[in-house]
Amino acid sequence: MSEIALPTAAVCPNFINGAWVESRSGRTLERRNPADLSDLVGYAPLSTRAEVQDAIESAQRAFPAWRAEPAPRRGRILANAARRLEEQKEDVARLISREEGKTLAEARGELGRAINILEYTAGEARRLKGETLPSELPSNFVYTFRQPLGVVGLITPWNFPVAVPIWKLAPALVCGNTVVWKPSELTPFCSRRITEILVESGLPAGVLNMVNGLGEEAGDELVEHPAVVALSFTGSNAVGAAINAKAARQLKKVQLEMGGKNPVVVLDDADLELAAENTVTGAFGSAGERCTATSRVIVMEAVADRFVELVAARVSQFRMGSPLDPGTQVVPLVGREQFEKVLGYLEIGKREATLVCGGEPAPAVNGAKGFFVRPTIFDRVPANSRIAQEEIFGPVLAVIRVRDFEEAMAAANSVRYGLTASIFTADANRIFQAAERLECGMVHINSPTVGGEAHVPFGGVKGTGFGQRECGSAAIDFYSELKVVYVDYTGRKREGNLY
Ligand code: NAD
Repeated sequence: MSEIALPTAAVCPNFINGAWVESRSGRTLERRNPADLSDLVGYAPLSTRAEVQDAIESAQRAFPAWRAEPAPRRGRILANAARRLEEQKEDVARLISREEGKTLAEARGELGRAINILEYTAGEARRLKGETLPSELPSNFVYTFRQPLGVVGLITPWNFPVAVPIWKLAPALVCGNTVVWKPSELTPFCSRRITEILVESGLPAGVLNMVNGLGEEAGDELVEHPAVVALSFTGSNAVGAAINAKAARQLKKVQLEMGGKNPVVVLDDADLELAAENTVTGAFGSAGERCTATSRVIVMEAVADRFVELVAARVSQFRMGSPLDPGTQVVPLVGREQFEKVLGYLEIGKREATLVCGGEPAPAVNGAKGFFVRPTIFDRVPANSRIAQEEIFGPVLAVIRVRDFEEAMAAANSVRYGLTASIFTADANRIFQAAERLECGMVHINSPTVGGEAHVPFGGVKGTGFGQRECGSAAIDFYSELKVVYVDYTGRKREGNLY
């Protein structure tokens, strides 16, 4: 693990007004490799509100020149960043594995997504389109065009420390906004690396500012500061709701992507091997710490015993180990807080349902102490129990047995969340009925709840998503304002249309 080119045990700097600066706060948060707690990655500074204010002022100063830059030139910088990230992919993948804890293969997958988003958004720079509309009046027409919002604040979580920031940064920048980004305090060195890549790709000073710190201090300053006109947040529901309530007082534009409780629905005519394989991928990859992770399986009673057997057999083959080892399937949770939360849910689950496997932490893996939890399956979980309703964000799968399709739809929709859902069946009618009825932002047919593409809108409904979708053309809508221009080329005093 020492091969990663990082200043060992360094304090991660902030990036403000085109310069790397040490935080003045004197307070830091220690970051250790979650798979090996003896490996100290470094420290995240807990920056002060004054430091965030410096960053906001720098973004304000940079805004007039950046908005005046032709959009295709802004896009070229993203294209450069895509190339740089591709060149550094292996190194950054190792950094993600060491700092966040996902496997190298998963980290490469995350980087592939980030590179695709940079490439796609670079192309969008040439398509920041408006519309030309006919007028109700002769010799008149109407057109619309896009303008940037101003200084935008981005607040991101740890679970996709590169892809989630990139899917906010790329459209924000290409639309001509300047940015202050408050990344997760758990992944400071990934955040530093992305900032370096974007800046080395040609971003002028002040256009992107990155300030590490705690949510309630550095993050809250972005929410409260009147110069920040829009906020894009990904994280937990409690924090998202609180941010929205505060931002609403200043009428800020807000986009929130929050927790999930994503179901796989397995009907009695499904290919059970396929369903089991994809459920396992969705539930246990990245230790279940994906917002799109499968946390519930709603399976028809007629095939439930066989399905649970198939899933449990696959899980029993899993190898726990270092995320850097290519044979590893089970990785640790990101940190102590998450670890303790998941262990708490294991105890709740033992009271509410039947434990099939797992249900406990693994104290040491290959001699290294980390935040490992054994992949856990609970069967016969009541649809209204806590483990079926609350986001656990760990390697825990709840199997809910139902009698028929109607009961399956009711169980799937019985939670407050709505990010993704999958259905496994060979019945074309049921597929389209489910696509219509499942209360979520993204439905997968005969495939896992996880995964998405760079040019496709991403996000959820109900308690999961608020505001416009991320990614694809929806992201351009969020990060720009549409202006309408009425053009009258009659040269005469207007007679009609005066309301
Ligand atoms: P979190 O809500 O604890 O933190 C997210 C970010 O918000 C961090 O940068 C944090 O410092 C900041 N923050 C915390 N309190 C704040 C406050 N009062 N004001 C401003 N900022 C504040 O979430 P997390 O633990 O980092 O991430 C896990 C959560 O993210 C899960 O619920 C997961 O489902 C969700 N998530 C959702 C998506 C999605 O697209 N729907 C994607 C990834 C993660």
